[in-house]
Amino acid sequence: MIFDSHAHYDDESFNEDREVILKNIQENGVIGVLNCGADLDGVKDSINLANKYDFIYAAIGIHPSDCEIVNKELMDEFKKYYNENNKIKAIGEIGLDYYWDENPSKEIQKEAFRMQMNLARELKLPVIIHDRDAHKDTLEIMKEFKDVTGVVHCFSGSVEFAKECVKMGYYIGIGGVLTFKNAKVIKEVVKEIEMDRILLETDCPYMAPTPYRGKRNQSDYINFVVEKIMEIKGISKEDVENITLQNTKKLFDI
Ligand SMILES: [Zn+2]
Repeated sequence: MIFDSHAHYDDESFNEDREVILKNIQENGVIGVLNCGADLDGVKDSINLANKYDFIYAAIGIHPSDCEIVNKELMDEFKKYYNENNKIKAIGEIGLDYYWDENPSKEIQKEAFRMQMNLARELKLPVIIHDRDAHKDTLEIMKEFKDVTGVVHCFSGSVEFAKECVKMGYYIGIGGVLTFKNAKVIKEVVKEIEMDRILLETDCPYMAPTPYRGKRNQSDYINFVVEKIMEIKGISKEDVENITLQNTKKLFDI
């Protein structure tokens, strides 16, 4: 039984066969999916998917790449969505992405991140944090909101950074990268972090694990990530699945 804590089934790459894939993954043991908004359409589509499918839940948030649109009016609109829909379980994905030059400036990204952290605090919801090449500033803002927790998704930091996040009550999102041959640091992170802090995720359609690396990802491919965790931790498949499932349910109040 797998719960995918981070997916984008609203993505256009699923337009041709979304229904089929969502049926397939359920047949292959996926019992839950948290679909994360990244832009405004993504937020609305995530809510629609959650309304249509029992096993899908929604997170609402604006990704750093699109964060110029974050303002007070939008936060009020998000509040309205939340009050009208009990399948919205988190604010995300939000955060900082300094990798792409064409992204909004660091200042704009930080401002949008803070506004959405504030919203999470107000609604008492967990956050789904996207951090790419911005560990220091991400941690700084996380520390400003000590009463907010969540998951650092597609974790790409060091063991030390992971430990800092855990200390602050955060979970570590582990996906396809763990299966990549050259991914050494994330294997260290999984080794060092307790199982009760790990969430499984795809970030599909992106980040497909080996042997599907480079292809479109889907939630049942998490099985390859589970295998890698079994190997690193020396525990059974059932333990990996059960513990991560409990972690997901606890964090998102499902
Ligand atoms: Zn994502």
